[in-house]
Amino acid sequence: MPKIFIDAGHGGKDPGAVNGDIYEKDIALQIALKLNNALKNNGFETSMSRSTDVFIPLAERAKKANKFGADFFVSIHLNSAGNSSANGIETLVYENKGVNNQLATNIQNELIKITGATNRGIKEQKKLVVLNSTKMPAVLIEVGFISNFSEGTLLLFNSCQKGIAQAITNGICKYFKKEVKGMAKVENVQDALKILHEKGVINSVDYWVKAVDIVKYLDALIINMANKIS
Ligand SMILES: [Zn+2]
Repeated sequence: MPKIFIDAGHGGKDPGAVNGDIYEKDIALQIALKLNNALKNNGFETSMSRSTDVFIPLAERAKKANKFGADFFVSIHLNSAGNSSANGIETLVYENKGVNNQLATNIQNELIKITGATNRGIKEQKKLVVLNSTKMPAVLIEVGFISNFSEGTLLLFNSCQKGIAQAITNGICKYFKKEVKGMAKVENVQDALKILHEKGVINSVDYWVKAVDIVKYLDALIINMANKIS
């Protein structure tokens, strides 16, 4: 089973690009969590640099992915420009050839197909730590411009974030020659607990809500379980 490392850009004290109340770190995380869900639903083994709003240094992100032994690294970011009309999606790679090029092309094509956004293409970037310090093929996707009012607003919507996560999943599935499945039905821990309660797996939803606050990664486990039995 291919291992995919998902990196949600920025986090914690580093908000990334900001436009009013819209923070890059938040949207990047929301898309990354949806991507994690979709990839797992398609049978990939995944690991994330962060699944909450915490600061993680760049070198540590690459180190984590190397340690995980990922077959592919995907980082989610949002773009920003002084010119507020700048828009579209681009995928960055360390070197635009071989596996990097194939994965980036698959993903970029799916993203443009699903979102209809401007295709800014695949670009080489030598200076990004997550691209030059990861030992596996790696891409960094700028899923849209936070500095562009309509694109930034659109990116706040759940449906848009889901579309982006699904497009990236489609691109990855295509490369690994896997048939694409839709996203897992249950996405949040509240819905998951409701299902587990209905199926008689748990007695007290309140107890598990408290437990999720205390025990790391328990939420992911619960969501996974609900998806398996629902
Ligand atoms: Zn960024």
